[in-house]
Amino acid sequence: MQNKQVSEILNLKEEKNAVILAHSYQPPEIQDIADHVGDSLQLSRIAASTESGVIVFCGVRFMAETAHILSPDKTVLLPEPDAGCPLADCIEVPALRSMQELYPDALTVLYVNSPADVKAESYACCTSANALEVVESVPSDEIIFAPDRNLGTFISRKSDKTFHIWNGACRSHAIADLQDMKVRMKEWPDAELLVHPETPPEAWELAHAVLGTGGMIRYIGESNAERFIIGTEEGMIYRLKTLYPDREFTAGGNIYCINMKMITLQKILDSLRELKPVIELDPQTREKAYAAVARMTKATG
Ligand code: SF4
Repeated sequence: MQNKQVSEILNLKEEKNAVILAHSYQPPEIQDIADHVGDSLQLSRIAASTESGVIVFCGVRFMAETAHILSPDKTVLLPEPDAGCPLADCIEVPALRSMQELYPDALTVLYVNSPADVKAESYACCTSANALEVVESVPSDEIIFAPDRNLGTFISRKSDKTFHIWNGACRSHAIADLQDMKVRMKEWPDAELLVHPETPPEAWELAHAVLGTGGMIRYIGESNAERFIIGTEEGMIYRLKTLYPDREFTAGGNIYCINMKMITLQKILDSLRELKPVIELDPQTREKAYAAVARMTKATG
């Protein structure tokens, strides 16, 4: 059954001139059929430059919206329209505007895990891969950082700028099970623990390195360690095993995002057959958000 679905997807992909992008947290069978698997920054850059007329985004809504903002002339499909992000949902325009009124000299750097209309109110977006570079490139010494408080805190400790940090969090990473990380470290004393900056500061203190998913991939490539405990969403383990079959990986912290598991092969197939659900944004919002998103893709990271 799965093989039949896969070959139908691949045929339709050709027929419709589509590209399939999958985030590293997606389930194995989705990563396997994707043209590109990566972090938010990598996938945004691919979405901006692809020649394909159709982008099938296997991730969550804010990622597909970002692809649409960058490539408005393409058809961007999100095979499961209810795949949302609780972190993105924790910020709304009126509340951000109130914070901006409170700190009129600050410029807003917005984690890309946020809704399009909030992006439209921000100076620049960033991902965990380039948050520091974006913050340093912003022409103000005062920053409003939203919506993830842990990433904001992590970056504020590396920058001399003044930070006003929004009190939001990724529900999956913010409740990372530190006890589980400690148990895994005891079981694999030779392993390096890598954690995502969306995890709480207590996890950073345990870790050998605090990195976004793309940073983890690069770090492992340069490390001499043979075993790694990975403190981010558990889908990343499959990605790492694929990239580094000679190393060993285990998940640490019981970090699981249900929204990242909502897309299935059948939903991709249906989406390609019918060319829906299409991501659509109010054109004014999209155009306003473009400047902030473009600053993110142009920054290094
Ligand atoms: S892992 Fe966290 S930030 Fe990423 S999609 Fe899930 S809830 Fe959102």
